[in-house]
Amino acid sequence: MLYTTDTIHQLTVPTPFGVGDVHTYLLKGDSLTLVDAGIKTEEAWKALEAGLKEVGYTPQDVEQIVLTHHHPDHIGLVDRFPNMIGLYGHEDNRKWLERDEPFLNRFRAFFLELYRQFGVGEEYQAFFKHLRDPLKYVGEGTLTKSLQEGDTIPGHKEWKVVATPGHAESHLSFFRAQDGTMLSGDHLLYHISSNPLLEPPRHPGGVRPKPLVTYRETMEKCLSYPIKKVMPGHGPVFDGVHDIIRTRLQKQEQRAQKVYDMLGAHSLTPFEVCQQLFPSHIKKEFGLTMSETVGQLDYLESVQRVQVEKKDGIYYYTAV
Ligand SMILES: [Zn+2]
Repeated sequence: MLYTTDTIHQLTVPTPFGVGDVHTYLLKGDSLTLVDAGIKTEEAWKALEAGLKEVGYTPQDVEQIVLTHHHPDHIGLVDRFPNMIGLYGHEDNRKWLERDEPFLNRFRAFFLELYRQFGVGEEYQAFFKHLRDPLKYVGEGTLTKSLQEGDTIPGHKEWKVVATPGHAESHLSFFRAQDGTMLSGDHLLYHISSNPLLEPPRHPGGVRPKPLVTYRETMEKCLSYPIKKVMPGHGPVFDGVHDIIRTRLQKQEQRAQKVYDMLGAHSLTPFEVCQQLFPSHIKKEFGLTMSETVGQLDYLESVQRVQVEKKDGIYYYTAV
């Protein structure tokens, strides 16, 4: 159902992904602004046009787009608004919008090397053939200006930018203090926990981000915001977010405990842990299951419950 207030219209479009529909939000203020831009399919574009029409607008009326993060279901239609004069988001969106060849090659090389170090077997080489597949769902463009923690959305000074990395390094949420509303992208969802996904370091040769550890920090940070209502990228609008955050953190600790118990007296590679943790999903959801596994191992390492050792260029994790 369409969620609407005086200044916000929720517009929902379908995606071909397992996550289902994705929401964008039309903000009315000094500028007409779309928060997120769906996915690049004709079905999504038709749904977005129809949604705009339902609330009295056309694509020609949209002046700005603000991005919560760089994933395809959130930046897909950025190049479909002829009168758009501003495209804003975290600086890390830029490389995904411009996606030049050196960046894409670096992305592939990073994962090839990372998964080799994680002990991934030859039979998963096919995964690398499909790394670029999601790009067909992404529009092209570039950022007009990047946003960071403490900024406000241009033309909507009541909406403050809150950096919420974890699900993606580029993730921003937007908080309106006057009524405690948060536009949370995929950082806070009601029906599912977000997957913190592995990403290359921001700068070549830098340290690999630890997305689950970062995600936990961001969740804890959100506990200090008086959030009353969350308008997410997927699923229902909801309240009671602080209870949800506490439950999510506990559940994650339980999953980490499962990994810890699994390690037992063995030294295992992340790939071996992933095979045991997701025997029936690893083939179909290789990237997701590896991200989840490595996330739990990173968390256990951060609380000093596992030790990591590199032997012949491959990482082994041992419970302590
Ligand atoms: Zn999403």
